[in-house]
Amino acid sequence: MNKKVLEKIPGIKPRPVEGRKPAAAMLRDVVDMVYGNAWDAKERGELVGWSSSKFPIELAKAFDLNVVYPENWAATTAAKKDGLRMCQAAEDMGYDNDICGYARINLAYAAGEPTDSRKMPMPDFVLCCNNICNMMTKWYENLARMHNIPMIMIDIPFSNTVEVPEEKVDYMVGQFEHAIKQLEELTGKKFDEKKFEDACAVANRTASAWLKACSYMQYKPSPLSGFDLFNHMADIVAARCEVKAAEGFELLAEEFEQSVREGTSTWEYPEEHRILFEGIPCWPGLRALYEPLKNSGVNVTAVVYAPAFGFRYDGIREMAAAYSKAPCSVCIETGVEWRETMAKENGISGALVNYNRSCKPWSGAMPEIERRWKEDLDIPVVHFDGDQADERNFSTEQYNTRVQGLVEIMDERKAEREARGEDVYTNFDNTKETDWSKSTID
Ligand code: SF4
Repeated sequence: MNKKVLEKIPGIKPRPVEGRKPAAAMLRDVVDMVYGNAWDAKERGELVGWSSSKFPIELAKAFDLNVVYPENWAATTAAKKDGLRMCQAAEDMGYDNDICGYARINLAYAAGEPTDSRKMPMPDFVLCCNNICNMMTKWYENLARMHNIPMIMIDIPFSNTVEVPEEKVDYMVGQFEHAIKQLEELTGKKFDEKKFEDACAVANRTASAWLKACSYMQYKPSPLSGFDLFNHMADIVAARCEVKAAEGFELLAEEFEQSVREGTSTWEYPEEHRILFEGIPCWPGLRALYEPLKNSGVNVTAVVYAPAFGFRYDGIREMAAAYSKAPCSVCIETGVEWRETMAKENGISGALVNYNRSCKPWSGAMPEIERRWKEDLDIPVVHFDGDQADERNFSTEQYNTRVQGLVEIMDERKAEREARGEDVYTNFDNTKETDWSKSTID
């Protein structure tokens, strides 16, 4: 393995926007607030739900329901190194080792397996949407059966076409209407149109601010690393209808804007190469993922996972169409187009793919997407075997070797471009040049 360790660039660390708490601290508090609110509701004897991360939660907000998110919670548990033990507990209950690690961790917890990680109150109902994947449906059916509670299901069929056809939107709007009826029966309340519209307005504000923050990776050098976005995933998953989350992401974008002006970055190393990181990160091994990249000056400036949570829409029909676009529910053409646009805008010269054993729908599409990248973008692509939660499926040595291979190819190509007097940074010439004097991202 390449033993080169790059020194930090002195004085490049960004500072918070004057007079404001750092955005990262503000956003950490928001997630704590969501889980705290759920516990408070439980203590008051109110209903608390568990929701899949891309369920249109605006519907539940119209009923003032408190909801927590098993995927986000399982990722936290895995990051705190209790995922493997919880996965094994689920396997002891009879759940197969091949099932997504998030589901195994959560099913073990739902069955009463204790953890020292963050705690969630047990659910009184579950909200499931299969725009994430179809495994989700079975996971939530098991939760509902285990606790003998209602399951409100929104079925969003896989998108075989790039455009969302009107008949599919009709079908999804029908699903929303049925879910509203079920929520009315569950809560004994009428659907509150005003609260729904307010929730939609906040969700759109949060999504816009999040996408704006993500867009700063287009600058070179980038004022952030994709790993910063991974650290903020909890907020965009668990708090997109919270005003404080919108404010936190707006502040985060302001901080990146300030960094662009001041020439600072959370990536405090020379940016020798810029790459796309594909897939969900291995939460228990974030440091193991980051270190070899850092040591070789490889900044992650494109990630698919983070902006995939930026749903923006105007009205119920656009909302339905927006929620039908998730990484595992769109066709290959859309998946390729998303990634290739980002690769060009963010100026990458290589890609690193996590063949995530937990997430088979995502990993299953990757060989064809990789093939298209090599053909369309002429970039080197390497992949490694990983897992978002189950540490048994990740090998640090394999990962280090794959990163080394990628760096060697990128070094060679960079040297060739330098010899030709070309831009050595990236394959693409439309990467934003940092202009310290003015802001250019709206
Ligand atoms: S990680 Fe993959 S398999 Fe697991 S819930 Fe998410 S989309 Fe489904």
